[in-house]
Amino acid sequence: MNWRMAIPAILALVWAPQAAVGAERGDPLAAMSEQQLDALAARIAAGIPRKPRVLILGAERGFHHESISDAMVAIAVLGQESGLFDAELRTDFDLINPRGGKKMRFGFIPEGLGDFDAVVLVNTTGEWGLGAEAKQALLGFVHDRGKGIVGVHGALDANYSWPEYADMLGAGFGGHPLNTIDKPVVTFPLVNEAPDSPITRHWPRSFSAQNELYVPKAFSRAKTKVLLRIDQDRIETAPAGTSDIPVAWTRNYGAGRVFYSSIGHTRRSWADPEVRRMYLEAIRWALGMTQDP
Ligand SMILES: [Zn+2]
Repeated sequence: MNWRMAIPAILALVWAPQAAVGAERGDPLAAMSEQQLDALAARIAAGIPRKPRVLILGAERGFHHESISDAMVAIAVLGQESGLFDAELRTDFDLINPRGGKKMRFGFIPEGLGDFDAVVLVNTTGEWGLGAEAKQALLGFVHDRGKGIVGVHGALDANYSWPEYADMLGAGFGGHPLNTIDKPVVTFPLVNEAPDSPITRHWPRSFSAQNELYVPKAFSRAKTKVLLRIDQDRIETAPAGTSDIPVAWTRNYGAGRVFYSSIGHTRRSWADPEVRRMYLEAIRWALGMTQDP
């Protein structure tokens, strides 16, 4: 709902005597003092339960995945249908800044990361080109303020000249040697290592997923909890030098929570209810609503 549009109607109901003078001039808000505006905003806000706010970021500076739009819509709809969170969709990096968090009188006009509880990075490939302040804002959002990051597929294939970004996600990008030009999408045998996790408990211990999956670089199980991995025993040719290819994991980064999965390359993956459930539960966990034992 556009609250600014609704304000005249609300004023007529709750503030008619005070607004009458200003209303004659055409702008009832103009007649109000700062204190009256705050009081009105508080009365309106009191009737609106505050849901967690999730920034769904589909910007990229590298390979453009055609699945970005499908993924952004799917994740926003997951928030609406579950009622768990409100989503803001952006295809630029402008909100990666330390601003926000100010009291909002009417409506929601985000200024920066201070206005969000979690950020979903949807195939955000390439060098984002952030300045030092923006970089620190994203790291501090998670590390210092205890917020959540959910990285989707191409989020790993990004920011090679910013090692702290890979450190936050838990790995760098080591390519996708199992997918070639001849085989852009492969059916992968996967192992569910965490059937106790709310994020992956809907999958059996062994299953398959069709996708393009990455080989993470500089990945450490000591710093992460692996939820899904490729079943190396069931693939024909394992990439040289890889004995462990995680596909989804969680980790703590300072006070915050980070989830990443390489599932999400294809449009089709976003029509898969099991993939959607994984990301909904990942967001719920990143928001601190569930525990990943
Ligand atoms: Zn991809």
